[in-house]
Amino acid sequence: EPLVASLPTPADLPDYARKTLEAIAPGFKLTDDRLREITHSFLHDFELGLSKYGEPMAMIPTYVTGVPNGKETGTFLALDLGGTNLRVCEVKLLGNHKFELRQQKYKVSDTLKTGEAVALFNYMADSVDAFLTERASIDPNQQNEDLLLGFTFSFPVEQTALARGELLTWTKGFSAKNAVGHDVGQLLQDAFDRRHMHVKCVAIVNDTVGTLMTRAYTGGDCLLGSIFGTGTNGAYVEDISRIPKLAGHPAVANGGKMVINCEWGAFNNTAGLRTVLPSTPFDNKLDRESINVRKQAFEKFISGMYQGEILRNILLTLVDHQPPILFKGESSATLNKHYGLDTAVMSDVENAQTLADVRTAVSAGLGLPLESVSDLDAWIVRWAAEMVATRAAKLSGAAVAAILVQTRHARLQGYGDPAEPIKTPGVMHVGVDGSMVEFYPHFEERLRSALRALVGEEAEKATKIGMAKDGSGVGAALCALQAMKQLTA
Ligand code: BGC
Ligand code: MG
Repeated sequence: EPLVASLPTPADLPDYARKTLEAIAPGFKLTDDRLREITHSFLHDFELGLSKYGEPMAMIPTYVTGVPNGKETGTFLALDLGGTNLRVCEVKLLGNHKFELRQQKYKVSDTLKTGEAVALFNYMADSVDAFLTERASIDPNQQNEDLLLGFTFSFPVEQTALARGELLTWTKGFSAKNAVGHDVGQLLQDAFDRRHMHVKCVAIVNDTVGTLMTRAYTGGDCLLGSIFGTGTNGAYVEDISRIPKLAGHPAVANGGKMVINCEWGAFNNTAGLRTVLPSTPFDNKLDRESINVRKQAFEKFISGMYQGEILRNILLTLVDHQPPILFKGESSATLNKHYGLDTAVMSDVENAQTLADVRTAVSAGLGLPLESVSDLDAWIVRWAAEMVATRAAKLSGAAVAAILVQTRHARLQGYGDPAEPIKTPGVMHVGVDGSMVEFYPHFEERLRSALRALVGEEAEKATKIGMAKDGSGVGAALCALQAMKQLTA
């Protein structure tokens, strides 16, 4: 088997180097059996999360009781705090599967991410205020009623109603104080009210839920909304009868369906040494040095925030090997810095078509002079990038497969027949968003190869994966509309 699928092994790869690479590679490899075991374990965690509160895979009921059909209309504000940017949008739902959107991005500094929550929420309210004066078509002072806002807040929030919910934990490098355990809808509303703004937050929306809703609105149907970006997660529509932890809740008295935010980034958090995930020393180092040790265990293998850091750990080991395997033992500021290697660099390295282009990408991305990067160095970095990213995409496939099986649209290969019949696949729509799906080369192809091994070729082919552009904004508007309907029902 070649070490790199896409480029032939160089003739001058020294024996000691080859042995070292061959010792590292199996740790990243996912056999079909291992993938099935992981997916099976995923399904087990789904079940635990649906039956009890406080489980690592939170399986959060969102109080969104259906997905749109594309006929919805109205104008709403949306505020989106996710991984990298803060966005404020005005969304006009046109009712023919289409929408109009005006938006403005605002930077979120590290000081805001890690300071006092009140400062972060004040900043968000100020951004909405600035947007209303500078960009919006609606003038809040001309309205008799408050403007309705959906708040896309892409962190685990244990919801008690559409607009109510406590932050369970921060993820993705956020750590603002006095937010965990607090109602984030209320924190935002308080910030609006302190400014006497005529804006009412009526829905808290996870970005995966927004993605699901947007895909259903624009495409007419969707069974999973998922994010593969700075973080990773998925949301799907579950039968209320299969959510035991909601039993007796007045919101579900009439049965039906509810969107569940899985928070699958936390899959395998508590497994520790018995993990089914392919942990290598490079992963363990990343986890140990992170601000959320043993948390977001699955996300740390997959998402854009972490892949570059895993690669950095591998490359440093090769730089420090005796005799050196990379760059004649030379390192760089980028390589020396915690989280210094952006996943976008991996993307460039994998996008390069020739070894010469790989060299250029490695030199630029790692901040090393071109002379310091030999063809062999370039090839080795490509090898490592491919290995990390392939594992990530395959694990992403396991998460998608778990949802197909959970919703009885497919069966997990090798695990016998399910108790209930499988719905004939037809077309299964999966809405996605995030930098990994949007920009990372071969992401979908690798994900699909795992999906095929997990649910078979027929189900894999029936799965249509489509970007849900502007999902956070449009999804928030659709949830705000749901909130309005539930209020007047
Ligand atoms: C968060 C999820 C979010 C995902 C994608 C994770 O870190 O916990 O709530 O959906 O990132 O943004
Ligand atoms: Mg986002």
